[in-house]
Amino acid sequence: VSPQEAILSARGLTKEFFGFKAVNGVDLDVRENTIHALIGPNGAGKTTVFNLLTKFLSPTEGKITFRGKDITGFKPADVARLGLVRSFQISAVFPHLTVLDNVRVALQRKAHLGTQFWRSNSALDRLNDRAHELIAAVGLDEYAALDAAELPYGRKRALELATTLALDPPVLLFDEPMAGMGAEDIGRISDLIRRIAKDRTVVMVEHNLNVVADLCDHVTVLARGEILAEGDYDTVSSDPRVREAYMGT
Ligand code: ADP
Repeated sequence: VSPQEAILSARGLTKEFFGFKAVNGVDLDVRENTIHALIGPNGAGKTTVFNLLTKFLSPTEGKITFRGKDITGFKPADVARLGLVRSFQISAVFPHLTVLDNVRVALQRKAHLGTQFWRSNSALDRLNDRAHELIAAVGLDEYAALDAAELPYGRKRALELATTLALDPPVLLFDEPMAGMGAEDIGRISDLIRRIAKDRTVVMVEHNLNVVADLCDHVTVLARGEILAEGDYDTVSSDPRVREAYMGT
Protein backbone atom coordinates (compact mmCIF):
# COMPACT_ATOMS: atom_id res chain seq x y z
CA VAL A 1 0.00 0.00 0.00
CA SER A 2 1.45 3.37 -0.89
CA PRO A 3 0.95 6.24 1.55
CA GLN A 4 -1.12 8.07 -1.09
CA GLU A 5 -3.73 5.32 -1.17
CA ALA A 6 -3.92 4.98 2.60
CA ILE A 7 -6.79 6.39 4.65
CA LEU A 8 -4.89 5.81 7.89
CA SER A 9 -1.09 5.81 8.18
CA ALA A 10 1.54 5.63 10.84
CA ARG A 11 5.20 6.49 10.48
CA GLY A 12 7.90 5.56 12.96
CA LEU A 13 5.30 4.84 15.62
CA THR A 14 7.05 4.18 18.93
CA LYS A 15 5.70 3.75 22.44
CA GLU A 16 7.92 3.36 25.45
CA PHE A 17 6.72 2.23 28.85
CA PHE A 18 9.38 3.07 31.44
CA GLY A 19 12.10 2.81 28.82
CA PHE A 20 10.76 -0.44 27.33
CA LYS A 21 9.76 -0.09 23.68
CA ALA A 22 6.40 -1.89 23.43
CA VAL A 23 6.11 -0.50 19.89
CA ASN A 24 9.24 0.36 17.99
CA GLY A 25 9.27 2.29 14.72
CA VAL A 26 6.10 0.88 13.17
CA ASP A 27 5.07 2.09 9.70
CA LEU A 28 1.52 1.21 8.75
CA ASP A 29 -0.73 2.02 5.80
CA VAL A 30 -4.39 1.07 5.87
CA ARG A 31 -6.06 1.20 2.47
CA GLU A 32 -9.62 2.50 2.22
CA ASN A 33 -12.48 -0.04 2.20
CA THR A 34 -10.30 -2.97 3.21
CA ILE A 35 -10.23 -5.19 6.28
CA HIS A 36 -6.78 -4.86 7.78
CA ALA A 37 -5.66 -7.23 10.54
CA LEU A 38 -3.02 -6.69 13.19
CA ILE A 39 -1.75 -10.05 14.36
CA GLY A 40 1.21 -11.39 16.29
CA PRO A 41 2.08 -13.42 19.36
CA ASN A 42 1.22 -12.23 22.87
CA GLY A 43 3.13 -9.14 23.88
CA ALA A 44 3.86 -8.21 20.24
CA GLY A 45 2.42 -4.71 20.72
CA LYS A 46 -0.91 -5.11 18.92
CA THR A 47 -3.06 -3.55 21.64
CA THR A 48 -0.58 -0.72 22.07
CA VAL A 49 -0.66 0.04 18.32
CA PHE A 50 -4.46 -0.12 18.45
CA ASN A 51 -4.54 2.34 21.37
CA LEU A 52 -2.09 4.63 19.59
CA LEU A 53 -4.19 4.68 16.41
CA THR A 54 -7.34 5.53 18.34
CA LYS A 55 -5.41 8.03 20.47
CA PHE A 56 -6.09 6.26 23.76
CA LEU A 57 -2.31 6.41 24.08
CA SER A 58 0.10 9.07 22.85
CA PRO A 59 3.17 7.87 20.98
CA THR A 60 6.63 8.51 22.38
CA GLU A 61 7.71 9.13 18.79
CA GLY A 62 6.17 8.97 15.36
CA LYS A 63 3.26 10.35 13.44
CA ILE A 64 -0.29 9.25 12.57
CA THR A 65 -2.23 10.63 9.63
CA PHE A 66 -5.87 10.18 8.72
CA ARG A 67 -6.83 11.15 5.17
CA GLY A 68 -3.53 12.98 4.97
CA LYS A 69 -4.22 15.03 8.09
CA ASP A 70 -1.79 14.80 10.98
CA ILE A 71 -3.81 13.53 13.96
CA THR A 72 -0.88 12.66 16.22
CA GLY A 73 -1.84 15.26 18.83
CA PHE A 74 -5.59 14.59 18.73
CA LYS A 75 -7.71 13.36 21.63
CA PRO A 76 -9.90 10.22 21.28
CA ALA A 77 -13.08 12.29 20.96
CA ASP A 78 -11.47 14.36 18.18
CA VAL A 79 -10.53 11.31 16.12
CA ALA A 80 -14.01 9.85 16.69
CA ARG A 81 -15.49 13.07 15.35
CA LEU A 82 -13.28 12.75 12.27
CA GLY A 83 -14.67 9.27 11.66
CA LEU A 84 -12.22 6.90 13.32
CA VAL A 85 -14.27 4.94 15.84
CA ARG A 86 -13.34 1.95 17.98
CA SER A 87 -15.77 -0.74 18.94
CA PHE A 88 -16.05 -3.78 21.17
CA GLN A 89 -15.85 -2.55 24.66
CA ILE A 90 -18.72 -4.11 26.55
CA SER A 91 -18.87 -1.07 28.81
CA ALA A 92 -20.03 1.03 25.86
CA VAL A 93 -23.49 -0.54 26.20
CA PHE A 94 -26.00 0.52 28.89
CA PRO A 95 -26.95 -2.77 30.59
CA HIS A 96 -30.34 -1.61 31.88
CA LEU A 97 -31.54 -0.07 28.67
CA THR A 98 -33.20 -2.20 26.04
CA VAL A 99 -31.41 -3.10 22.82
CA LEU A 100 -33.62 -0.61 20.98
CA ASP A 101 -32.91 2.19 23.46
CA ASN A 102 -29.18 1.53 23.35
CA VAL A 103 -29.23 2.02 19.59
CA ARG A 104 -31.44 5.13 19.92
CA VAL A 105 -28.97 6.64 22.39
CA ALA A 106 -26.13 5.95 19.97
CA LEU A 107 -28.06 7.61 17.14
CA GLN A 108 -28.65 10.64 19.35
CA ARG A 109 -24.94 10.69 20.07
CA LYS A 110 -24.24 10.77 16.35
CA ALA A 111 -26.52 13.82 16.10
CA HIS A 112 -24.62 15.39 18.97
CA LEU A 113 -21.28 14.69 17.27
CA GLY A 114 -22.23 16.54 14.15
CA THR A 115 -25.44 17.07 12.24
CA GLN A 116 -28.70 17.82 14.04
CA PHE A 117 -31.46 15.65 12.66
CA TRP A 118 -33.59 14.38 15.47
CA ARG A 119 -35.69 17.33 16.60
CA SER A 120 -39.16 17.19 15.07
CA ASN A 121 -41.60 14.30 15.38
CA SER A 122 -40.88 13.20 11.84
CA ALA A 123 -37.19 13.25 12.66
CA LEU A 124 -37.84 11.04 15.68
CA ASP A 125 -39.72 8.64 13.42
CA ARG A 126 -36.66 8.53 11.22
CA LEU A 127 -34.50 7.86 14.25
CA ASN A 128 -36.75 4.94 15.21
CA ASP A 129 -36.68 3.59 11.67
CA ARG A 130 -32.93 3.84 11.57
CA ALA A 131 -32.65 2.13 14.98
CA HIS A 132 -34.74 -0.79 13.74
CA GLU A 133 -32.67 -0.99 10.55
CA LEU A 134 -29.46 -1.23 12.55
CA ILE A 135 -30.92 -3.81 14.91
CA ALA A 136 -31.99 -5.91 11.95
CA ALA A 137 -28.58 -5.50 10.30
CA VAL A 138 -26.83 -7.05 13.29
CA GLY A 139 -29.44 -9.79 13.69
CA LEU A 140 -31.04 -8.53 16.90
CA ASP A 141 -34.69 -8.11 15.76
CA GLU A 142 -35.94 -10.67 18.22
CA TYR A 143 -34.03 -9.04 21.06
CA ALA A 144 -35.05 -5.40 20.53
CA ALA A 145 -37.16 -5.17 23.71
CA LEU A 146 -34.70 -7.04 25.92
CA ASP A 147 -32.35 -5.27 28.34
CA ALA A 148 -28.76 -5.34 27.08
CA ALA A 149 -27.72 -7.10 30.30
CA GLU A 150 -29.90 -10.09 29.42
CA LEU A 151 -28.33 -10.69 26.01
CA PRO A 152 -26.19 -13.75 25.43
CA TYR A 153 -22.51 -12.86 24.99
CA GLY A 154 -22.33 -12.94 21.19
CA ARG A 155 -25.49 -10.86 20.88
CA LYS A 156 -24.07 -8.29 23.27
CA ARG A 157 -21.11 -7.85 20.96
CA ALA A 158 -23.55 -7.49 18.06
CA LEU A 159 -25.26 -4.71 20.01
CA GLU A 160 -21.93 -2.96 20.52
CA LEU A 161 -21.44 -3.19 16.81
CA ALA A 162 -24.87 -1.67 16.17
CA THR A 163 -24.13 1.24 18.53
CA THR A 164 -20.84 1.80 16.73
CA LEU A 165 -22.49 1.64 13.32
CA ALA A 166 -25.02 4.20 14.54
CA LEU A 167 -22.18 6.71 14.43
CA ASP A 168 -21.68 5.77 10.76
CA PRO A 169 -17.90 6.07 10.87
CA PRO A 170 -15.82 5.58 7.71
CA VAL A 171 -13.18 3.73 9.73
CA LEU A 172 -13.93 1.15 12.42
CA LEU A 173 -11.31 -0.31 14.71
CA PHE A 174 -12.09 -3.60 16.42
CA ASP A 175 -10.07 -5.06 19.27
CA GLU A 176 -10.61 -8.82 19.11
CA PRO A 177 -14.20 -8.69 17.92
CA MET A 178 -14.58 -12.48 18.13
CA ALA A 179 -13.03 -12.96 21.58
CA GLY A 180 -15.03 -15.40 23.68
CA MET A 181 -17.45 -16.26 20.89
CA GLY A 182 -18.65 -19.62 19.68
CA ALA A 183 -18.53 -20.71 16.04
CA GLU A 184 -22.06 -19.53 15.27
CA ASP A 185 -21.48 -16.01 16.61
CA ILE A 186 -18.11 -15.84 14.86
CA GLY A 187 -19.80 -16.68 11.57
CA ARG A 188 -22.49 -14.05 12.06
CA ILE A 189 -20.10 -11.28 13.15
CA SER A 190 -17.73 -12.16 10.28
CA ASP A 191 -20.57 -11.78 7.77
CA LEU A 192 -21.47 -8.49 9.32
CA ILE A 193 -17.93 -7.13 9.26
CA ARG A 194 -17.62 -8.23 5.63
CA ARG A 195 -20.77 -6.29 4.78
CA ILE A 196 -19.66 -3.23 6.74
CA ALA A 197 -16.32 -3.20 4.95
CA LYS A 198 -17.89 -2.88 1.49
CA ASP A 199 -17.93 0.87 1.92
CA ARG A 200 -15.94 1.29 5.10
CA THR A 201 -12.48 0.58 6.38
CA VAL A 202 -11.95 -1.92 9.16
CA VAL A 203 -8.82 -2.37 11.27
CA MET A 204 -8.88 -5.28 13.67
CA VAL A 205 -6.68 -6.96 16.22
CA GLU A 206 -7.55 -10.64 15.96
CA HIS A 207 -6.16 -13.74 17.63
CA ASN A 208 -8.21 -16.25 15.68
CA LEU A 209 -6.14 -16.88 12.55
CA ASN A 210 -9.00 -18.70 10.83
CA VAL A 211 -11.00 -15.50 11.07
CA VAL A 212 -8.07 -13.50 9.72
CA ALA A 213 -7.64 -15.92 6.80
CA ASP A 214 -11.34 -15.80 6.04
CA LEU A 215 -11.97 -12.10 6.43
CA CYS A 216 -8.94 -9.89 6.08
CA ASP A 217 -7.54 -8.37 2.89
CA HIS A 218 -4.30 -7.28 4.43
CA VAL A 219 -2.35 -8.55 7.42
CA THR A 220 0.36 -6.81 9.42
CA VAL A 221 2.31 -9.16 11.67
CA LEU A 222 3.91 -7.62 14.74
CA ALA A 223 6.52 -9.24 16.93
CA ARG A 224 8.41 -7.59 19.79
CA GLY A 225 7.00 -4.20 18.85
CA GLU A 226 8.16 -4.30 15.25
CA ILE A 227 6.65 -5.29 11.93
CA LEU A 228 7.71 -8.79 11.04
CA ALA A 229 5.72 -9.33 7.86
CA GLU A 230 3.04 -7.72 5.77
CA GLY A 231 0.73 -8.85 2.99
CA ASP A 232 -2.26 -11.09 2.40
CA TYR A 233 -2.85 -13.96 4.79
CA ASP A 234 -1.29 -16.63 2.56
CA THR A 235 1.87 -14.60 2.15
CA VAL A 236 2.40 -13.86 5.83
CA SER A 237 1.34 -17.30 7.06
CA SER A 238 3.91 -19.01 4.85
CA ASP A 239 6.70 -16.69 6.02
CA PRO A 240 9.14 -18.74 8.14
CA ARG A 241 9.83 -15.76 10.43
CA VAL A 242 6.13 -15.52 11.24
CA ARG A 243 5.93 -19.25 11.99
CA GLU A 244 8.97 -18.95 14.22
CA ALA A 245 7.54 -15.96 16.11
CA TYR A 246 4.33 -17.87 16.85
CA MET A 247 6.19 -21.04 17.84
CA GLY A 248 8.42 -19.12 20.23
CA THR A 249 5.53 -18.17 22.56
P1 ADP B 1 -0.28 -7.55 22.47
O1 ADP B 1 -1.56 -6.79 22.37
O2 ADP B 1 0.33 -7.84 21.15
O3 ADP B 1 -0.36 -8.79 23.32
P2 ADP B 1 0.58 -5.28 24.06
O4 ADP B 1 0.51 -4.11 23.15
O5 ADP B 1 -0.53 -5.47 25.04
O6 ADP B 1 0.81 -6.60 23.19
O7 ADP B 1 1.94 -5.22 24.89
C1 ADP B 1 3.21 -5.10 24.29
C2 ADP B 1 4.26 -5.05 25.39
O8 ADP B 1 4.14 -3.83 26.11
C3 ADP B 1 4.12 -6.16 26.42
O9 ADP B 1 5.41 -6.58 26.78
C4 ADP B 1 3.43 -5.48 27.58
O10 ADP B 1 3.78 -6.08 28.79
C5 ADP B 1 3.93 -4.04 27.48
N1 ADP B 1 2.94 -3.08 27.95
C6 ADP B 1 1.75 -2.84 27.39
N2 ADP B 1 1.08 -1.87 28.05
C7 ADP B 1 1.91 -1.48 29.07
C8 ADP B 1 1.81 -0.49 30.11
N3 ADP B 1 0.73 0.28 30.23
N4 ADP B 1 2.85 -0.40 30.96
C9 ADP B 1 3.94 -1.17 30.84
N5 ADP B 1 4.10 -2.09 29.87
C10 ADP B 1 3.10 -2.26 29.00
